[in-house]
Amino acid sequence: MFQILHHGATSGVTGSCHELTLSGTGSPSGILIDCGLFQGQDEGRGASADDLAIDFSIDHIRALVVTHVHIDHVGRIPYLLAAGFEGPIICSEPSAIMLPEILEDALKIGFTRDRDLIERVLNLIRFRLVPVPYGEWHEVLDDGECSLSVRLQRAGHILGSAYVECDARCDGLEERIVFSGDLGAPHAPLLPAPESPERADRLVIESTYGDKDHEDRETRRYRLKAVLEHALEDGGTVMVPAFSIGRTQELLYEIESLIHEFGGELWNDLEIIVDSPLAAEFTRIYGDLKPYWDAEATELVRQGRHPLSFEQLTVINSHNDHLNAVDYLARSHRPCVVLAGSGMCAGGRIVNYLKAMLGDPRNDVLFVGYQAAGTPGRDILKHGPRGGWVELDGERFDIRAQIHQVGGYSAHAGQSDLLRFVEGIPLPPREIRIVHGDEGAKQALKRCFQSAFDTDIIIPTE
Ligand SMILES: [Zn+2]
Repeated sequence: MFQILHHGATSGVTGSCHELTLSGTGSPSGILIDCGLFQGQDEGRGASADDLAIDFSIDHIRALVVTHVHIDHVGRIPYLLAAGFEGPIICSEPSAIMLPEILEDALKIGFTRDRDLIERVLNLIRFRLVPVPYGEWHEVLDDGECSLSVRLQRAGHILGSAYVECDARCDGLEERIVFSGDLGAPHAPLLPAPESPERADRLVIESTYGDKDHEDRETRRYRLKAVLEHALEDGGTVMVPAFSIGRTQELLYEIESLIHEFGGELWNDLEIIVDSPLAAEFTRIYGDLKPYWDAEATELVRQGRHPLSFEQLTVINSHNDHLNAVDYLARSHRPCVVLAGSGMCAGGRIVNYLKAMLGDPRNDVLFVGYQAAGTPGRDILKHGPRGGWVELDGERFDIRAQIHQVGGYSAHAGQSDLLRFVEGIPLPPREIRIVHGDEGAKQALKRCFQSAFDTDIIIPTE
């Protein structure tokens, strides 16, 4: 009667798209949870055009619910509209502000350069958006025989992120089905940790870090401090390849707190540059949406601190300013941290910084996110510490800069966090579906759940 289907994120961590369909005696009705793009190695399923296509029936789909605005959860929305989807796009209030921005960027890169067409698609998306406050039930459909309501709860992953509780009813039968979306780590800066659902008869849960736990926040912060101190000592630049939403803001928050704590002339010399119009825009939106921050961040604001817009922070927008900054930092001896995309050094403004500065041992590269096989980021991480080289834009660059990796700024829950999330549900779900993870992570999480719950644990394939 209530059927869960998966149209992505079953053979990797991207392309999230799940379906919940209710079938009474009449024709079925359903909703989609996310409609994301396949990225990186997950694209290897075939030609990317095939991956973009909506290859399942959407005639009965009445609404799309968006858990959060990462591109692997929302990137196929333009294609969903092109396929004829006419329903509302339900999401949290912060997500409704960010979704058009992220899709504008995605459309420019992957869809078309036609400005008018992009504007038309964005207007259509804005028109369909239905922002729903956290914690409030929202009726999606009621055709007399079947009804479905959804409620969004904070997921602590990025600003606006939510897990989705679905109350499905047909012919007197009812079921609560919960889709986790991406869950945040409990001690992430800025956002409150997710709380377990009060009920979940069935649960669809992510498993990105289903096989490991992160370093705790203090360790992470200590290691970040050590890297920054190296830059301060010898006037080098710390290059941080970072994604625009989530990690950039978490890092700014941590850097501000280090400057505040250690202060003094030395730390006050440190310059922080965000060289990315998109990251700058999302940092501004994060700053505007303080009601969604956690208690710790709110308290800092009350004390007059500005965790995301402090004095030493400079934002670079134009390409010319970007080129000037690369040139200036390569020659200057001022300690500086640059945050720029892309997160895996495969294109984006970070590449120019790397080309100009990898050869100088005063500089550092700090990786804060996963580096996929085949990306320059992975090569730098692997060969850099042994004095190797990396190929950027077809040219070899020797690596003399110091290479570091701090693993905890991933914005995803680790294995014990996922376990705690499920343990916190008063009655264990009768079925748990593990999605959104590499095979090893899914299997490890399955074993972990099997030893904790007497429940059906499924790793679905499409
Ligand atoms: Zn995400």
